[in-house]
Amino acid sequence: MTHVVIVGAGIYGAGTALALRDAGVDVTVVEARTPGHAWAGSGGLSRVLRYEYGRDLLYVRLAALARDAWRALEARLGVTLYHETGILTLAASASSWERESFDALVAAGYHPEPLSAAEVTRRWPVISADGIGFAAYHAIGGFIAARRATEAIAATAESAGARFVRGAAVAGVVVEHGRAQGVQLASGERIAADAVVLAPGAWAAATLFNCTGKLGKGQDRDLELTGHGFERARDFGRLLDEVVGRASVGRIDELEVVDDDETEVFL
Ligand SMILES: Cc1cc2nc3c(=O)[nH]c(=O)nc-3n(C[C@H](O)[C@H](O)[C@H](O)COP(=O)(O)OP(=O)(O)OC[C@H]3O[C@@H](n4cnc5c(N)ncnc54)[C@H](O)[C@@H]3O)c2cc1C
Repeated sequence: MTHVVIVGAGIYGAGTALALRDAGVDVTVVEARTPGHAWAGSGGLSRVLRYEYGRDLLYVRLAALARDAWRALEARLGVTLYHETGILTLAASASSWERESFDALVAAGYHPEPLSAAEVTRRWPVISADGIGFAAYHAIGGFIAARRATEAIAATAESAGARFVRGAAVAGVVVEHGRAQGVQLASGERIAADAVVLAPGAWAAATLFNCTGKLGKGQDRDLELTGHGFERARDFGRLLDEVVGRASVGRIDELEVVDDDETEVFL
């Protein structure tokens, strides 16, 4: 059976672990601390789920998919993670991004409610009417209980058979013959894998950078990234360049797009 090591058990790592287990994949998750810990992006009380994204209906469609997915997950887990409080949008100007969001939602068939400043203070007395040039309330949207969701998804993945190694930091990805072969922990232990998923959040630069950990300065290194379109790969390259440059170890010499779904970065 294919064995995948996932680095990081934030919402992305934990969610990937659960999805892979559902697909029958053997999974090991290595988490330096605990899923949804206080420093993680997925820690904390809440994260907003909203449909307001300016004119860009792609994000509205993604938000709608996310809302359905959260509901389905709640039904599976038997817990409430998404609280549909509705979203109140306030802007200083009547011609604003918030107004564009409102118009786009109406055009897409949703029913956000335009509000006067006086109506805002009547319904939410804690808010002053001063400076409100545009206001709308959309009953769809709310917040996800972030840490609880991350913990619950990680626990479900674990009971579905994913192995969790907690309190262990991945020092680098073992890359041999142009492929990720597993990870090396800070303790020196290696975990072999057919594929490695990096989900280390804000620690991504450090973890990616350490792909090269076993190679010294100036040596040729290959890092293959998949799933990035051209523009994203270019941005990613710029990011890597900056990180690598700041670490004064090397720089990106070439960024070659193999095809839409496969990008190679030569460091
Ligand atoms: C203040 C704030 C507000 C936000 N608001 C919203 C919002 O309203 N709506 C929304 O949708 N999103 C919001 N986001 C974004 C969202 O919270 C993040 O995109 C998401 O939580 C990131 O999850 P992650 O799994 O990528 O990272 P994280 O949750 O940070 O998880 C990464 C994990 O990897 C572990 N790790 C890192 N390096 C290693 C290593 N070398 N070895 C082992 N483990 C490692 C870390 O310990 C951590 O647990 C917000 C983010 C922040 C910070």
